[in-house]
Amino acid sequence: ADSVSAAAPILRDLQMKCATPLPVLRHVADALAADMRAGLAADGGGELKMILTYVDSLPTGNEAGLFYGLDLGGTNFRVLRVHLGGKEKRLLDTEFEQVSIPQELMCGTTEELFDFIASGLAKFVQKEKDKFGPPKGREREIGFTFSFPVKQTSIDSGILIKWTKGFAVSGTVRRDVVACLNEALKRQGLDMRVSALVNDTVSTLAGARYWDDNVMVAVILGTGTNACYIESVDAIPKLQGSTYQSGKTIINTEWGAFSNGLPLTEYDRAMDCESINPGEQIFEKTISGMYLGEIVRRVLQKMAEVSTMFGDSFPQKLSVPFVLRTPDLCKMQQDDTKDLNEVEFILSDALGVKSSCLGSRRIVTDVCDTIVKRGGRLAGAGIVGILQKLEQDFKGSIFGRRTVVAMDGGLYEHYPQYRSHLKEAVTELLGEEVSKNVIIEHTKDGSGIGAALLAAANSKYS
Ligand code: ADP
Repeated sequence: ADSVSAAAPILRDLQMKCATPLPVLRHVADALAADMRAGLAADGGGELKMILTYVDSLPTGNEAGLFYGLDLGGTNFRVLRVHLGGKEKRLLDTEFEQVSIPQELMCGTTEELFDFIASGLAKFVQKEKDKFGPPKGREREIGFTFSFPVKQTSIDSGILIKWTKGFAVSGTVRRDVVACLNEALKRQGLDMRVSALVNDTVSTLAGARYWDDNVMVAVILGTGTNACYIESVDAIPKLQGSTYQSGKTIINTEWGAFSNGLPLTEYDRAMDCESINPGEQIFEKTISGMYLGEIVRRVLQKMAEVSTMFGDSFPQKLSVPFVLRTPDLCKMQQDDTKDLNEVEFILSDALGVKSSCLGSRRIVTDVCDTIVKRGGRLAGAGIVGILQKLEQDFKGSIFGRRTVVAMDGGLYEHYPQYRSHLKEAVTELLGEEVSKNVIIEHTKDGSGIGAALLAAANSKYS
């Protein structure tokens, strides 16, 4: 290994390959808009699946009564109750509870898993005693947020394509998960039924729209990423002969699968090759929280091989995939001490670097900035792609008035630099004037209120 300065050309090369000047952003926005169109024309038409959600009625604020949300998307499930008071009073009360799913149920049978969830719901409902409860002759209605790949067939049914995230429950694949839950609710003797099945992005959109009719798009930037938006039924050729009263629906883009024209490096390609889904989810691998830390680690590993940046001996931990996490990058970028003490601490703590000079630490923060800047700016270009597609269909409908993009997810919420890069790219692409109309705001829907609101808007009794 040569001196510290041997790392400098690697940094320069990285900055060049990750650069996202306006023409690159524009290409990404245009390509995403074109791909959305292709996916709306026919299933499999483009990289984006553009999945139908069958949502016909969006929350308006007029909904009233008691509704429930159930959120299953990881090792916990959450149940919640909202008491809606109509236009003026809005949200009278919300209450929620979280239950962790025992390991053995994640690889048990369908009946065991859904019985466990239904009994969790039963306990939650029992605590209400006589305080609440649906009017006589009505079942309690649930909005079910289910964050696994499903092929939806109506607002209240969907067939599981495959389990992900460590779930390996037998007998669920190719079955309707709503029917599975409804049957378990019956076995518990509960007067409850699912009125809306949604994914987490759709729940975020519905939750934000409840408060603000100008919300058109929702984006999740957390461990992974996805976006959905409100589309006019006339602009969905693949939707043949279906009847939608409102003329509008929500489309789940699954935009993580996009890849056209992204500025990628050898580090991205190597990470993709070694991933569990090579060649898939390239946009997600470039912009979402699960991967930013890992890309930086790969760059630092290369630097450590050719320079003395991290001392004379190669720090062993540096070659372990995913040891450097995105929150670590965030902490390093927050470091405003003269000697970059926090950077030094994280290098030592996360990567086992025994000693580093100030010059090396500066290079490390430059690498973080390069990767995070590219991620944030490309996410911004993606958002503009969606807005642009809507504007092309109905001129003035988006850029000519206030339009809100609802953001959620830990990466967006906790990483200020990422957020700034994202917003800056949006402003560069749209120009100062138009971007005044585009509001990008964080709206937290952690507990899945949006799904309960969709159950209300799509109530069987209205
Ligand atoms: P999930 O996407 O897993 O459902 P979240 O929306 O809470 O859950 O996002 C969690 C992700 O957000 C983490 O994997 C991480 O990448 C990112 N994240 C969490 N905290 C921070 C932080 N302080 N700085 C940067 N990124 C963070």
